[in-house]
Parts: sequence; C-alpha cells; structure tokens
Amino acid sequence: MIICSMRNETPHTELSPASLASSPIVGNASHATGTLVDKYGRHVTYVRLSITDRCDFRCTYCMAEEMTFLPRQEVMSLEESLQVAKTFVDLGVTKLRITGGEPLVRKNVMWLIERLGALAGLENLVLTTNGSQLERFAAPLKAAGVRRLNISLDTLKPERFKEITRIGDLDKVLRGIDAATNAGFRRTKLNTVMMRGTNDDEFVDLVRFAMTKELDISFIEEMPLGEIHGRNNTYISSEETLALLGRHFELLPSTESSGGPARYWRIPGSESRIGFISPHSHNFCDTCNRVRVTAKGELYPCLGQNDALNLLPVLRTGTDDAALRQAIVDSMGIKPFGHDFTQQMDAPQVVRFMSMTGG
Ligand code: SAM
Ligand code: SF4
Repeated sequence: MIICSMRNETPHTELSPASLASSPIVGNASHATGTLVDKYGRHVTYVRLSITDRCDFRCTYCMAEEMTFLPRQEVMSLEESLQVAKTFVDLGVTKLRITGGEPLVRKNVMWLIERLGALAGLENLVLTTNGSQLERFAAPLKAAGVRRLNISLDTLKPERFKEITRIGDLDKVLRGIDAATNAGFRRTKLNTVMMRGTNDDEFVDLVRFAMTKELDISFIEEMPLGEIHGRNNTYISSEETLALLGRHFELLPSTESSGGPARYWRIPGSESRIGFISPHSHNFCDTCNRVRVTAKGELYPCLGQNDALNLLPVLRTGTDDAALRQAIVDSMGIKPFGHDFTQQMDAPQVVRFMSMTGG
C-alpha cells in the first residue's frame, strides 16, 4: 500500500514487501515496454540519486547549523544504490544524476561511479557537487564515464563564501573547477542560489567568471525546503536577475535545453549559457521527467511535495529485483501533477532539507 503524507507532516511512507507482492501496477508504467509513465502521461527518464545526506559544508539555505545526520545503517549501501540505479535503467531511465549531501564525501564513492559508468542503457551519468573534492576526483570521475558536472558557486568572495557555507574554502572550490576543466569536462555548469543582500551584487561578476572559464551558469530561485526561516527577505525571482543581467550583457533567449527545468539565454560571442531555474515564477511541472531517491532510499516523485515511497525495506528483504521493480512502477501512481511552492518563503513548505532529498 502506498501511503501519501500530507504537506508538512513527517514524510514517511512504508511499503511492505508483503503488500508489494499483491499491489497492482498503478500509473501507466509498462513492464512490456520497460518505460515509466505517470498518470499524467509524463515519461520518467531521469533519476536524481542521493548517496549521502552528509556534507563538508553547511550552506545556510540548505542546512541548519547543527545537523543530525542519518545513522549509517539507515543509509543505502553503495551496493543498494547500484541496485536501485540498475532497476531504474532497466525501466527505461537514461539519465542519472548523483547528488547528496556532498556525493564526493561518501567513502568509496568511486566504486559506485565506476559501476554506474559501465551500466548498459545509461546514456547520461552526471554529478552535482560543491567542488571541494574535485582536485582529487575530477580525473577519476571523467575516466569512469561521468559526462558532466554541476558545481555550486554562490560567490567569488572568500569571506562571503565562508559565511554562506559556514565552513567552506573558496580557493579549494576554484581549484576544483579548474581541475574539472583540466580533466576534460566541458560545459560544466555553475549553480548559483540567488539571495538578496547576500550575493545579488555579484551576479554580473559570476556571469563574467563563467564566460572567462567557458562554463555555463544557472541562477536558482531559493526553495522553501527545511526549517530555515527568514527566506522571505532574501528571495529573488529569475525575472529580477534577468533584468539586472540585461543591463550588462546582450542576452538572447535560447531554445536549448540541458534536459532539465532551466531556461537558457546566450551572450553573443560567448559559449556560456546563462540559465534560470525558477520553481516559483515559472512552474516547470508539466514537462517533469524525473524522480528523486534519497540517501535512505525514499523515492520522492516530486521535490516539492512530501509524498514518498520507502524502497529500503524492499531492498533489504527482497530476494530478487522483482519487488523493487514493482515498487518503482507503483511510484508512478503517486507522482503529483506538480509542486505548489508559493512565494511565501518564511515557513518551510516542505519539511525536508535539500541535502536530504538531493538537489
Ligand atoms: N552538495 C552538492 C552541491 O552543493 O552542489 C550537491 C547537493 S546540493 C543539495 C544541490 C543543489 O541544491 C546545490 O546547487 C544547492 O545550491 C541547491 N540548493 C540547496 N538548498 C537549496 C534551496 N533551499 N533552494 C534552492 N537550491 C538549493
Ligand atoms: Fe552541502 Fe550542497 Fe547543501 Fe551546500 S548545498 S550544504 S554543499 S549539500
């Protein structure tokens, strides 16, 4: 039985292997064609897989200062993460993003990445990172078949970087970005969360930095995830930033897509794409092709809702992949039409931190 949690209730959905065995296929997922289709006809081909809730930073918009992380036994093992990924790929998923927390702080992370890179049918293996470990990992990630990196960067000022991340070292991240380019990564994308009074005076500089380094950059509207208050004062819409950038650059709208919700602009003479991820001002739900799996094995069909389906009991008691496959198919039935983030940012609209769900 699938249990849907209500908004702001503790989101814990249990799906017992016994109930799974008798549960009907919901949604329109088809074993015959091996594809996942939700009840609104959207094909799910993209999974974001979080492999840890831990991180070496404590970004103010993502985590509380004092975080309690999951006990190790509640986190999927690397073998379990691999099994989940394999099953999704069997069901027609072609793109997998590894995320966290900070995925590169997970012990033996390369064991998993190497196996994912070799998965037949997985066309696009990508990773989101804060960049802190890239000096060490960029080359092995490239060799393992990771296609593209997203690296978070909210500021180019070392002191400010320390304030936003509470711990991080900007220089290390900048060296990580260069290490990615030197390892052969192209079209690396910077992710910048827009925060009024914190980094809005640097958006132009960040775009210039991206252009100089031949990187893409996406500006993200802050989302009300987790118990972090005071967001109302810092929220900036994509429109406002677009208008600001338009006063400094010639911006041409582009029809390009990276397969995600970002809308892109180009600057003539530059290879860099300027993207905007606007969950508030431009709801992108009608074309949503993705689901998320947390480090503890919860399958969230929507980042902005609390409904989830717990895969861990299925993984830990199942003797074959059939139950897991069925559970994933069933999740199509609880994929909502969309999130309904409002611009009332002061109260959390979703109780999880982003580091739990994976960005
Ligand atoms: N640690 C990695 C990183 O920072 O890139 C991967 C995980 S992080 C949760 C993924 C992305 O989510 C980052 O780009 C981060 O800026 C973004 N993020 C975290 N909390 C957010 C929030 N409340 N609103 C919007 N974006 C957020
Ligand atoms: Fe860590 Fe990424 Fe969250 Fe920052 S945004 S605290 S780097 S998981």
